[in-house]
Amino acid sequence: MRANKHNIFVKRLEAANIRNAEREVIWLACHALGISEAEFFTRESFSHSEISRIDELITRRESHEPLQYIISEADFFGRDFRVGSGVLIPRHDTEVLVEAALEIFRGKSGVKFLDWGTGSGCIGLTLLLELGDSFAYLLEASSAAMSYARENVARYNLESRVKFSYPENSESLDLIISNPPYIPTREICELMPEVRDFEPISALDGGVDGMDFYRLIFSDTCGFLKRGGYVILEIGDLNQYHEISSLQNFSNGFRFVREFYDFGNFPRCVLCQKLL
Ligand code: GLN
Repeated sequence: MRANKHNIFVKRLEAANIRNAEREVIWLACHALGISEAEFFTRESFSHSEISRIDELITRRESHEPLQYIISEADFFGRDFRVGSGVLIPRHDTEVLVEAALEIFRGKSGVKFLDWGTGSGCIGLTLLLELGDSFAYLLEASSAAMSYARENVARYNLESRVKFSYPENSESLDLIISNPPYIPTREICELMPEVRDFEPISALDGGVDGMDFYRLIFSDTCGFLKRGGYVILEIGDLNQYHEISSLQNFSNGFRFVREFYDFGNFPRCVLCQKLL
């Protein structure tokens, strides 16, 4: 009976074209019942009410609601972050931005940075946890997203090391880091249903060429950067890579330093430096 039920749930997710159906059923069932995987596998049977609790989550997943929204957690750089409707789910490819920052700042003390469009806070808070006595300014336009960022700040006891505002002083930052919305508007309709139908459009849509927020970040925040300070940006396509690496039109006073590659070997991140 138990195995049958499990199989029926797996078949339902497979029929909905969910790739990792078998694992997802286990995660969802454990979450629904608040039990460990070990307990899931050793349980002889499940009650009707337990099965209906699992069924409820399977139905949500069948409609392509992201797994992370259903279980309220997403892994980023080996740590769990609270997520849910209204905030972008951290992507593993975004970890390369953290790697890039650590390459420059690991071992340095007193690093001050701004995480523009922090969302769940995954980038900024990971950097705080990796860089000893650093301090973060976190900017987020969406109040829904901001409430997740605040929860994650509290979860990692970082209240004294963040401010949800612009810095007080100009030329005070060592780094501006951001995963801004960068998908060209016309491409939004082609995204996976998990992203297109559930994640906040304001975290995805970067305008006609996807470049709106890169222009804004450079014009809006650069005065806060020290001379010699760095900008680390996630990018979404090769056009964006070429525009930013040639630094045309929108970022006088910067030099392009290098790109960093994601797990799929795509140039996912660019590093620029404010000229002395
Ligand atoms: N990388 C995200 C995606 O795949 C997009 C995030 C963004 O626009 N910054 O949908």
